[in-house]
Amino acid sequence: MADNGNAKPVGSATAVVQGGRRSEWTGDPRLGGSIVNPPVWRASTILYDNVADLKTRGHATHDKLYYGRRGTPTIWALADALTQLEAGAEGTLLYPSGVAAISSALLALLSPGDHLLMVDSAYEPTRSFCNGLLARMGVETTYYDPLVGADIAALIRPETRLIFLESPGSLTFEVQDIPAITAVARERGIWTILDNSWATPLLLPALELGVDISMMSLTKYVGGHSDALMGSLTANKALWPKLRHATYQLGQSVSADDCALMLRGLRTLDVRLERHGKNALTIARWLQGRPEVAKVLHPALPTDAGHALWSRDFKGASGLFSILLKDTDDAGRARFVDALRHFGIGFSWGGYESLAVPSDPAGIRTATKWDSAHPLVRLSIGLEDPQDLIDDLEQALRQI
Ligand SMILES: *Cc1c(COP(=O)(O)O)cnc(C)c1O
Repeated sequence: MADNGNAKPVGSATAVVQGGRRSEWTGDPRLGGSIVNPPVWRASTILYDNVADLKTRGHATHDKLYYGRRGTPTIWALADALTQLEAGAEGTLLYPSGVAAISSALLALLSPGDHLLMVDSAYEPTRSFCNGLLARMGVETTYYDPLVGADIAALIRPETRLIFLESPGSLTFEVQDIPAITAVARERGIWTILDNSWATPLLLPALELGVDISMMSLTKYVGGHSDALMGSLTANKALWPKLRHATYQLGQSVSADDCALMLRGLRTLDVRLERHGKNALTIARWLQGRPEVAKVLHPALPTDAGHALWSRDFKGASGLFSILLKDTDDAGRARFVDALRHFGIGFSWGGYESLAVPSDPAGIRTATKWDSAHPLVRLSIGLEDPQDLIDDLEQALRQI
């Protein structure tokens, strides 16, 4: 596999196949060639030839063997592959979970006295970090309406340092006007981070839309098989050194074994996302026609409030969305979820298998009000035959 350093940029399906397979990570000419996948390089200790070597190589900070916490080729291969997926990216850092990536980014960029603008539809543990550890550090968080757009300008204070976006929003799938927000942020010298777990850079080129750091829970679609946790931050040139320095200081590191699992998932990301999106849309459309369903929250549906923005900025849909059940209560919702046979009941999403989880966004909103008259169920649509899932949903809806 030749290095693709200076070659013409390739499409995303090619990029997920080729990413990270640099020849120096997949083989050695002395062994007669290279293998397809970067092997699992497990390491804590790195050995040096002699004291002089220790003194020179011991100062290497990046992409050189130094000490296990600074990475091995398996880890660099995954980071490099993710960087290749985001046009405008300088580098990627890996964390043991998506939450660790989010908390590390916020710790890297914020200081006591700083002000943070956080989207009201953020993933709940993101809010929890802001309200807990960040507040204790003297960082103030203001939650803003995901639909704020360019009016974010009115919320900016002299001490506002960072705007955090997540689009579509967790549980409720509001689509944010990312270019409008990043334009205001750029003008004021404020940094932006986007939680891009739902779309991945294959469906949403975050940095191209003006975002400084694109974050992903790799646990979801990149891993894709519900067997490993990991998070990533992909940064532009301005923020990459800052982020890397803080990550070293925080001691964040990931295992080579988990990176090999993530690399395996990454190779099929393009085809899996396409199928997840197609299945989800088939099912979302069917659910829209059901009398038991008050509303389907999926931005790829033309009737969705976020559809225009979604069509403008996203290249496709993934497989996670929510439904609101009509004329029922908590018990009716539980009867529905419990009756499902092809859907597991569990947190997380993005794996090959379908999942359903009841959730109540009302209690985790402060800037906006969520009308909880209709109980919500979030569905992660997997790679099963959509007709089997529809048959299953049909019998379960009858149990309400
Ligand atoms: C799951 C999730 C995370 C956190 O990822 P973990 O790997 O589970 O820590 C962050 N953001 C969103 C939108 C998520 O759904």
